[in-house]
Amino acid sequence: MGHGPRENPMFIDDLLESSMLENGTVDANEFLAKLTTEFLTNKLMQKKRDLNPTIVISRRHIRTEKENFLFGATEKPIKILPSEYSSVRLEARIATILSTHHFMKSYGKNWELPFLLITYHEIGHLFGAPRSNRTDLEDLIGKHCKNRNCAMEQVNVNGKLDALEKVKYVDLDSPYCNQCLEDIRIGITSWKKLKEKLKASDGRDELQS
Ligand SMILES: [Zn+2]
Ligand SMILES: [Zn+2]
Repeated sequence: MGHGPRENPMFIDDLLESSMLENGTVDANEFLAKLTTEFLTNKLMQKKRDLNPTIVISRRHIRTEKENFLFGATEKPIKILPSEYSSVRLEARIATILSTHHFMKSYGKNWELPFLLITYHEIGHLFGAPRSNRTDLEDLIGKHCKNRNCAMEQVNVNGKLDALEKVKYVDLDSPYCNQCLEDIRIGITSWKKLKEKLKASDGRDELQS
């Protein structure tokens, strides 16, 4: 049968290629949607035990219809699986894309620390931080933490710090505030539960076939 993403790196390149906007830029939302669909319809159905949160790092310029550049983007939570697996309720984010393009362009040789900061930021989103039921959030291109010392604060939008400036406020050995850290713990726990459920549904499939 076909190759899964991890066995075949070209798979990611093909998906990036097919999500191009003008001038070789990649539509991050389209890419994430395609990647998630691929996981759900191909990888997930055939090799469900392997499903893991996935981070793609690309050199390409990524953007959306609204934003003309992005440092990174994380897929919105997926709530429902294909009907074949309707017994499994999936509420998790599956994929993140980070691009080195704009970091290198904006910060030159200083690009690595802002890149690390935003990598933590997107990993936080991948595991559901900040959880939307919190009352201490601000909505700036999605819900974000207001804590200046936390990687989950929004950067590079009006009234917020530039990523290079923000690095000065965050301890990159411990980049999350306690509340976001707790959110991430909850997210990791629900991923573990999800994987257990998928294993269980694997067993059922084998019984059915
Ligand atoms: Zn964010
Ligand atoms: Zn926080």
